[in-house]
Amino acid sequence: MTFSKKLLDLKQQVLEESAPFFHRIEGIAEENTLKVLDAMRECKVSDAHFNTTSGYAYDDIGRGKLEELYARIFAAERALVRTQFVSGTHALATVLFGILRPGDELVSLTGKPYDTMQTVIGYDNPSLGSLKEFGILYDELPMADGKVDIKGIAGKLKSNTRMVLIQRSRGYSMRSPLSIGDIREITAEVKRVKPDCICFVDNCYGEFVDVEEPTQAGVDIMAGSLIKNPGGGIAPTGGYIVGKKELVELASYRLTAPGMGDELGASLSNNRLLFQGLFLAPHVVSQAIKGAVFAAGMFDRLGYKTLPLPSEERGDIIQAIELGSAEKLKAFCGGIQKYSPVDSFAAPEPWDMPGYADQVIMAAGTFVQGASIEFSADGPLRPPYNVYLQGGLTFEHAVIGILGAAQAIEDLNS
Ligand SMILES: *Cc1c(COP(=O)(O)O)cnc(C)c1O
Repeated sequence: MTFSKKLLDLKQQVLEESAPFFHRIEGIAEENTLKVLDAMRECKVSDAHFNTTSGYAYDDIGRGKLEELYARIFAAERALVRTQFVSGTHALATVLFGILRPGDELVSLTGKPYDTMQTVIGYDNPSLGSLKEFGILYDELPMADGKVDIKGIAGKLKSNTRMVLIQRSRGYSMRSPLSIGDIREITAEVKRVKPDCICFVDNCYGEFVDVEEPTQAGVDIMAGSLIKNPGGGIAPTGGYIVGKKELVELASYRLTAPGMGDELGASLSNNRLLFQGLFLAPHVVSQAIKGAVFAAGMFDRLGYKTLPLPSEERGDIIQAIELGSAEKLKAFCGGIQKYSPVDSFAAPEPWDMPGYADQVIMAAGTFVQGASIEFSADGPLRPPYNVYLQGGLTFEHAVIGILGAAQAIEDLNS
């Protein structure tokens, strides 16, 4: 038998217990699908927008339409949505380098940022070409009991604090993601203390998890990756930035060149993939979250600490599970890999991933390389050996993969 009777019985039990949570997730997906469809109608999306362009690509109507659509869906004034962004980090870095000037200070309000952002900023993890080298100052407000220290914000904002960085998702940490309500409270406090301070959200893994987005909660600008939630598993690469018109414009001069901004940039990949991915995104995100809830239920029952718990409301698509040993972390990732559609014959090994301080092990048998909206698991090789599980284009795949991971851990003892 592929999976033990114990695990299959547990699966039935967890699926039954999860029904009310699934119901809520499906409701959010329906509301977000309606939001996307309304925007597509209002923007008059049509076949003509799916063509590729070349060269400078002035007046690229597909690119322009996609950016109009993103701006509308995220309730923002302007958007920059490009396959020229090589990843989420690139889009986030483009915002920082586009807006900040020497002598300006950036303050992270969510403690230490995501690993790859630490190299961009250059203080925790010194690196060539970082913000630090350009004379941008940096400070951090540590999180208090896994929450943003709202009372501590006022003490951190100085006259030269030009921007605060708010990371919505947990990243490689065991804190909770921020809810839209949390983000609204944080931006209100920042604006109360310093109205001209820019609120910037790292929205990676957060898109379509709730019915509102951070840009509807007082945020000035935010960015994310197209091979996570908003690409719907279909976008081949890319990133997006949405927000206030003048801020997105500044970022566009960093992406291309001063004076050029968003008016150039060929649609080399089929634009249809970006439109269709966005259309699918609310559903795909719901599949991923249902998978995460199922994983939490299974591993909670198996005696592991999970964050969030199965019953908790979600602010991102990530499920963290504290596995407690390197051996179990490797087995877990091996189990996920085995039931992946691509490279299922490979055994994941820890490696020195660019931008990450510790070795990372990663199970990613994905169609789009490294796409973490596809079912994937990863974790840094450091105690307490947390695995971060995310994505899943179909709930069925997530269920099978989680059973595979649980079975691989069970097999360690036999
Ligand atoms: C994924 C992610 C990023 C960007 O990572 P890329 O791999 O460059 O797309 C940044 N911040 C958070 C919280 C993330 O989850």
